[in-house]
Amino acid sequence: MTASAPITQDLLTIPRKDAEGLPNLVGLTREALGAALAEAGVPERQIKMRVGQVWAWLYQKGARDFDTMTNLSKAFRADLAARFQIARPEIVTRQVSADGTRKYLLRIAGGYEVEAVYIPEEDRGTLCISSQVGCTLTCSFCHTGTQKLVRNLTAGEIVGQILVARDDLEEWGKPAGDKRLVSNLVLMGMGEPLYNTDNVRDAMKIAMDGEGISLSRRRITLSTSGVVPEIARAGAEIGCMLAISFHATTDDVRDRLVPINKKWNIEALIQACHDYPRLSNAERITFEYVMLKGVNDTDADARRLVKLIAGIPAKINLIPFNAWPSAPYERSDWDRIEAFAEIVNRAGYASPIRTPRGEDIMAACGQLKSASERVRKARRVPAT
Ligand code: SAH
Ligand code: SF4
Repeated sequence: MTASAPITQDLLTIPRKDAEGLPNLVGLTREALGAALAEAGVPERQIKMRVGQVWAWLYQKGARDFDTMTNLSKAFRADLAARFQIARPEIVTRQVSADGTRKYLLRIAGGYEVEAVYIPEEDRGTLCISSQVGCTLTCSFCHTGTQKLVRNLTAGEIVGQILVARDDLEEWGKPAGDKRLVSNLVLMGMGEPLYNTDNVRDAMKIAMDGEGISLSRRRITLSTSGVVPEIARAGAEIGCMLAISFHATTDDVRDRLVPINKKWNIEALIQACHDYPRLSNAERITFEYVMLKGVNDTDADARRLVKLIAGIPAKINLIPFNAWPSAPYERSDWDRIEAFAEIVNRAGYASPIRTPRGEDIMAACGQLKSASERVRKARRVPAT
């Protein structure tokens, strides 16, 4: 990235929908959509067909208005519009990093804000989405964890982040076979997805549905800090790829970095990983490991790490710590990170070092929060 490359920030003016008004069709499972249509008077024998039609409009064509659903009768469209809405999170700001990363600050019902980040790469485009506003957990190296406001996102708000990104990238209606812009999803934004498992599951079912967004479960990765009892449920009910925010190799250090470790320790977490379904060389667990100078980055740590995960098909994603204002840690030196990676690699595990993306717009891992806080502060200033 060159220092002089421009960072653009533009305010988009998508009209605000009244999210607290009519029920939103976005985020309903097929069953729930069927029930909603039945309640709206669609006869039982037509439900399946109608669900299919509305579903395709919502998730294949990205319809934002009932009026565009031209294969439905005018009367039916009007009926739907009187009873339901098609609402997405509202884009407050969109920042585009010098490296092409896009960060969206999104407003949802109640005036809450979350962030989603789109990361284009050569062979894929990854959308990093949030599952909660803020996070109730307090990992000591994570900026999101310092945010006080917290609420779970609804399934519609989780799917809505995908819809918003596809709107912005103008990806709707592209011919099948074209390179997909949003080809991968990671639940690595704000929040702990396994403290909101039901909504995350419903949203991911929609994302995976073959007649809609149609992302393969292998292209969806859920990252958890270690909510052990929910890990099996994610495997059974979502079936996506799993990433574990591991970050330490002794309970003592992990208790300090990832406090949920006091509830479910390393041993319990590792057992849950062994039990995760369908593990194979093609479907490995990603162990995320943030590199903190002098805290968790010694050769001994690297050796303990490979011992702990022995027998689990895994790769280890080393994340150079991303700083945020008054963070109590520093990033490990580059040669330390490489030495650590080398030990892990020699033990037979892939150990990519995650290149920080979108740092100039605070979009990198663990940096999400500041923009919303800034915007919130600005809005608090009374108008004169
Ligand atoms: N709450 C979930 C999902 C967030 S994923 C979880 O913790 O797994 C975001 C990833 O970035 C996690 O692995 C998290 O531990 C890591 N992370 C958080 N703060 C970071 C920081 N400042 N620098 C680098 N990585 C960070
Ligand atoms: Fe929450 Fe994950 Fe940040 Fe921990 S690392 S505070 S679980 S978002």
